[in-house]
Amino acid sequence: MTKTRIITSCTRDCPNTCGLVATVEDGRLVGLTGNPDHPLTSGVACHKTGKYIRRVYSPERITHPMVRKNGQWERVSWDEALDLVADTMKTVCEESGPEAILYYQGYGERTALKLLNKYFFNLLGGATTMYGSLCGGAGQGSQNLDFGERVSHDPLDHLNSNSIVLWARNPVSTNISLVPIIRKVKKRGGKVIVIDPAKSKSVALADHHIKPRPGGDGYLAMAATKLILAAGAEDREFLEKYSEGVEEYLAILERYSVEELCSLAGVPTSDALILANTFMKHGPTSTLLGWGLHRYEYAHHSIRPIDALGAVSGNIGVPGGGVSQGFEEYGPYDSQWWGDGLNPPRRQFLIPKVGEEILNAKNPAVRLIYVTAGNPLCMAPNSSRIAEAFGRAELVVYSGHFMDDTADLADVFLPATTFLEEDDVVASYGHNYVGPVNRAIEPVGECKSEFHMFYELASRFPFADWYRRPVDEWLQRICSPIWQQGGDLESLRREAFRLDAPMVPYEDKTFPTESGRFRFMTEFDPEHTAGDNAYPYKLLTIAPHGTICSERTVAEHEPLPVVTLNAQEAERGGMRDGMIVLVKSPVGEVRARLRADADMRRDVLVAERGGWTKAGHGLNLLTLDMASKVGNGTPFYETSVAVSPEPEVKARILLVQNSGRAPGGTFHKALERGGASLMLVRPADGESLPELPDAFDGLVVLGGPQHAFDDDASPYFPALMRLMREFDEAGKPVAGICLGAQLLARAHGARTWGMDALEFGFVRHALTPEGEADPLFMGIGELPGLMEFHEDSFDLPDGAGLLVQGDACANQCFRVGRVSYGFQFHLEVDSAVVENWINLFKRGEIDTYAEYKKLYGPAFFEAMEADLPLLVARSEDFCNRVAANWLKLVVG
Ligand code: SF4
Repeated sequence: MTKTRIITSCTRDCPNTCGLVATVEDGRLVGLTGNPDHPLTSGVACHKTGKYIRRVYSPERITHPMVRKNGQWERVSWDEALDLVADTMKTVCEESGPEAILYYQGYGERTALKLLNKYFFNLLGGATTMYGSLCGGAGQGSQNLDFGERVSHDPLDHLNSNSIVLWARNPVSTNISLVPIIRKVKKRGGKVIVIDPAKSKSVALADHHIKPRPGGDGYLAMAATKLILAAGAEDREFLEKYSEGVEEYLAILERYSVEELCSLAGVPTSDALILANTFMKHGPTSTLLGWGLHRYEYAHHSIRPIDALGAVSGNIGVPGGGVSQGFEEYGPYDSQWWGDGLNPPRRQFLIPKVGEEILNAKNPAVRLIYVTAGNPLCMAPNSSRIAEAFGRAELVVYSGHFMDDTADLADVFLPATTFLEEDDVVASYGHNYVGPVNRAIEPVGECKSEFHMFYELASRFPFADWYRRPVDEWLQRICSPIWQQGGDLESLRREAFRLDAPMVPYEDKTFPTESGRFRFMTEFDPEHTAGDNAYPYKLLTIAPHGTICSERTVAEHEPLPVVTLNAQEAERGGMRDGMIVLVKSPVGEVRARLRADADMRRDVLVAERGGWTKAGHGLNLLTLDMASKVGNGTPFYETSVAVSPEPEVKARILLVQNSGRAPGGTFHKALERGGASLMLVRPADGESLPELPDAFDGLVVLGGPQHAFDDDASPYFPALMRLMREFDEAGKPVAGICLGAQLLARAHGARTWGMDALEFGFVRHALTPEGEADPLFMGIGELPGLMEFHEDSFDLPDGAGLLVQGDACANQCFRVGRVSYGFQFHLEVDSAVVENWINLFKRGEIDTYAEYKKLYGPAFFEAMEADLPLLVARSEDFCNRVAANWLKLVVG
């Protein structure tokens, strides 16, 4: 076995841009840890990093190009996929001009070579592109107004601070490399204040947590500023010599008393006093702004007063001080390679309103949409409108890793490599280092980097020679500003390079504004609109702790998103912890599971963003598509919602699980999303079955390795079969899956028997005429391949109707009694379950199946795994629809 360690950097949408070490054994990635030699991140890497290996090899990852034909995805060659894209681009350019192509470049990965994607479109003649941000635009725009240019303190300079204010910043979840720095400051007696309407994980680091009203941060900053001024503790020299607009700003402060400001901020006056005292008694104070602050229409009304607080308190241009927000991740590159100069400037759409912009586009309308490094259908606001817009395009091309919400609306799926399969360079929006991106493993399957995709695509156009240069030649060109600072590509392959950026910006107190001075906000006319009683809570869709944005798989989703509400508010609304609730906004509604928390503000509803709509988590179905007044950011937090208990649980389902290896999977999740509440019983583990069906409306019996005819090994079978009959006699639907189907047949008097063979893998079956007419399969059409894993079968009970027939094993689905269904195939599987079952074979973990190993050898599994993402996706789609139909029968 050969083991190698490769130095690389994390390129995910995260400010840390950690230095990493990838460990590879025989060509396979086996370890991913922080690089202890990185000068800033120093071996730190978050808990999401180790999990990334699983993402690289996920059974849901799409690793072959695909094209949708007649509504169905089909695996095709790269040539076929790229020919289709290139031919459509040419037709669109000829007929409607290049602006009929929309290039949506997301911020999922921001490496140097990805700048060239835009270069390709500019060579093509230009295309419609996006501007604005789903994240930090408003903060950057606001700080540009105050400082002339947003420049942050080097994170290591925070070690010089005697206090740190984490203003809507949550380093424990989203900026982990700051945590050791904060701990060091605390260890030597420094103070930490967290200001956040939500209770983030970083509250654990804080000496004090201030919870302002969402969007009320500016008033809090003004109140603290007034207290500093009242104490005569302001930095007079800075105000008089190095700033402009101070008189106007002081006049704005004069309009309010401290009490009024605190009331507008939604905090007690004592909070403003604690904050002011921190600045006055524990300076220098480093204020670190988080991304939540940007998510308001008038975000500048918060950020500019915070900048002003930094200025009045004497923390600008001071070691250990500053108001730091972020860094320019595209700053270190030569911008000519974006290619903007190649063709006249083309149309641009505002990212926060992408759906509306596409729908309103005229002369030309958008005909082709090309998406890279983004999942706008999930991450951008008002996703219903975006779905409508994408649905109108003639061709949607998606370069990505998974069949996510955006991929679901695409016509061409181009499988992209992860950063572990690429050579590149990456700068950070959280610090001053550029890091190497070194390929650790060969591309998985047929995946290609975006660079290589556009390289191949360019060869189909007359400008091929402009684009087609080797990776290193491009990096030499793009990174030329870094070489001018003393870097070189060879060294950058080995270690991170610190850019020529100040540890302490504006130390000489000159600013790149017209006057050369810091600029105070001189106008402040906030609109105080009365809240809408119908939607009493601000929806805060915060960054998730366990994942980056929408980076997840279908199998990783819980059935419903979790929303957290103040416990008293929940009680007032007739809701309790764990209950299913309906969250409604003016543009959509989402079902969710409620978490009640006594320690929350009463006017917010908090949820982690990034869950997929197709997995029942589409929180952006609720958010409004609007833009911030400064910086073209997305005011996600302007959305107000109502929360109510589900009028009543639609159905109470008893779920009988016979084996830990055969969970309810997609069937379970689909029932829960459809409004059912499920009670799980594991009789094989000694849990008791209910005597009667009275407390339930339906019964699901899952699979397991037991033989349905072997009561000695499973003494609970007779009781379970009696229960299945009783449910049916009471007109309460039963669904039996695999072992559950065999038990259902036996419960209705049929024989079950061993086949002396194993049926395993995704198998195509056909609906019988009776099946086509059955309400369970209404609107289903042709069946996809469905997962089989059984060595027993059954006769059809008397009076049963066969609904699905197989070739190798005929009885695949039947209806019996009043309303009972047996499924021999495992319609419930998700990718995690199938992967587990494949591994049971591969590792020879189950003796029972050892004799079948020769039938299901490496070639079988290789072929199955290559197609797994699609097989599972189609099976899940089928399962969701069948489960919905079954639930209709339950509800009646
Ligand atoms: S996700 Fe962020 S914290 Fe985690 S390894 Fe990547 S850069 Fe570091």
